[in-house]
Amino acid sequence: MMLQAAYPLRCQPFFRDYLWGGRGLQTRLGKSIPENGIWAESWELIDHPEHSSRILNGSLAGKTLGDVIARDAAWLLGANRTSLPLLLKYLDCQKVLSVQVHPNDAYALKMTPPDLGKTEAWYIIDCQPGGVLYAGLKPGVGPAELMEATSNGTVHKCLHEIHPQAGDCIFIPAGTVHALGAGLLVAEIQQASNTTFRLFDWNRLDARGKSRELHIPQSIEVTDYQSGPRPIQVPQPTSQLGRMRLVSCDKFCFDRISDVDSIGVGGDGRFHFVTTPTGGVTIEGDGFSEQLKVGESLLLPASLARCQAKLTGEAELLDMFVE
Ligand SMILES: [Zn+2]
Repeated sequence: MMLQAAYPLRCQPFFRDYLWGGRGLQTRLGKSIPENGIWAESWELIDHPEHSSRILNGSLAGKTLGDVIARDAAWLLGANRTSLPLLLKYLDCQKVLSVQVHPNDAYALKMTPPDLGKTEAWYIIDCQPGGVLYAGLKPGVGPAELMEATSNGTVHKCLHEIHPQAGDCIFIPAGTVHALGAGLLVAEIQQASNTTFRLFDWNRLDARGKSRELHIPQSIEVTDYQSGPRPIQVPQPTSQLGRMRLVSCDKFCFDRISDVDSIGVGGDGRFHFVTTPTGGVTIEGDGFSEQLKVGESLLLPASLARCQAKLTGEAELLDMFVE
């Protein structure tokens, strides 16, 4: 059953107040976070047992992505797909995050309740001086070394450290030990999973003098000891002028569009997430024109015809999909 003519879906962001956040979701990305408190993540597009994004525009306004998928999955996701496998987030990292690792699909499927594994990729929108992240183990770190470091409180010494710049992308396949550091504003695409094993929390205590829960045996078990230090991705040209491929893997493709006035997006029978870490993009198609300010996102349904993205000045558009 076809719902109706396809159009780009704009959704209500869902904010999370983890202790490492700040106010940057509002000050840098224009998000309507509550007036007080620190806010770490904006979940832009998701359909997961923990949350399903609420649609804000058009005839589906008020419905969730989960409602739409239940009614007509193919309309939104394309043929043979019954769930939305990706989650798009923005993160304001004002303190270093815990050192963590995510399982792959095979491991996550056996958990209770079952979940997807989590492969993710980070796009650095802003990095304050001294900003740092950790991506992968240093060469030669095996399970014994990692185990010992967890008991000594020295896990950070096992990690590959990167001082990124705005525009850098780092790919974190499932099984890669990682942590985002302080001073980073990040767009993240990941598998729609919330399964995280925390390996090390920098010997931190909370206001009550308690440390956060760690999952050391699971972390040691799911870590991929072969993958080693993760590099900064080298963007690859595609057949479209202005479109560079940052990541291509079996979980998602992640493209950056820039330095072009107008470019085609979507219309290939797949769903697309698009978002603007740097504002000034309009998505135009048959009967609609959606303006994307900085930090705004759209879900282009798989049944939507090809759109034109119009970019002004320094605008950047990130385009994420599953091949
Ligand atoms: Zn992660």
